[in-house]
Amino acid sequence: MPVLNQSLPLLIPEQTARVIIFDFDGTIADSFDAVFSISNRLADEFGYPSTPLENVNALKNLSSREILRRSKVSFFKLPFLLRRLRSELNQEIARLKPIPGIKDALLELKHQGHHLGIVTSNSRQNVVAFLEAQDMRELFDFVDSGLTLFGKGRIIQQILRQKHIAPATAIYVGDETRDVEAARKIGIKVIAVCWGFNSCEVLAAQKPDFIIHKPAELATVMTH
Ligand SMILES: [Mg+2]
Repeated sequence: MPVLNQSLPLLIPEQTARVIIFDFDGTIADSFDAVFSISNRLADEFGYPSTPLENVNALKNLSSREILRRSKVSFFKLPFLLRRLRSELNQEIARLKPIPGIKDALLELKHQGHHLGIVTSNSRQNVVAFLEAQDMRELFDFVDSGLTLFGKGRIIQQILRQKHIAPATAIYVGDETRDVEAARKIGIKVIAVCWGFNSCEVLAAQKPDFIIHKPAELATVMTH
């Protein structure tokens, strides 16, 4: 399958093309199970309670801030935990799969003439390794990362400034309440996806501009 057929005519004029910025874990990569088991493995070391499998649904109903509050992991320890999570995830890259249907949905957006990028708390190295393994690297114009849970808004803002992208043309796509929060903070539109780490219910409470249940709906949202 061609990743990007440059010879296809653009279906939309450049002035209506959007810059669609994606979160990675849970939005593009089906990594919930990997992150869940790594988090449990690191529980003792970082001094937070592990989560039994039967509590997964309850966990998905908690906002990112609530999960952090309950874990009692200090903001001071958080970067160390994130760094460990990244290096443990690095061992799983070859086994990770994309969310079913996401690759076709991204191809569709690209063919429509939109520009795609990734902003993640995971490492750039992990994300690029995954994209290359899945033959998806060429879909994205940029992949940026920050060792932060709640600072994604700032990273997106820097990208928009550097690339001279008008905030009104940008839209963020993420699976966690902190993604919705980040987009809100910098005043860009946001699509919450229900196939990742958070449930539709808790995402809806953050009032994203759109909530979608399957990747094929991405293209529909862009026509709004
Ligand atoms: Mg995510």
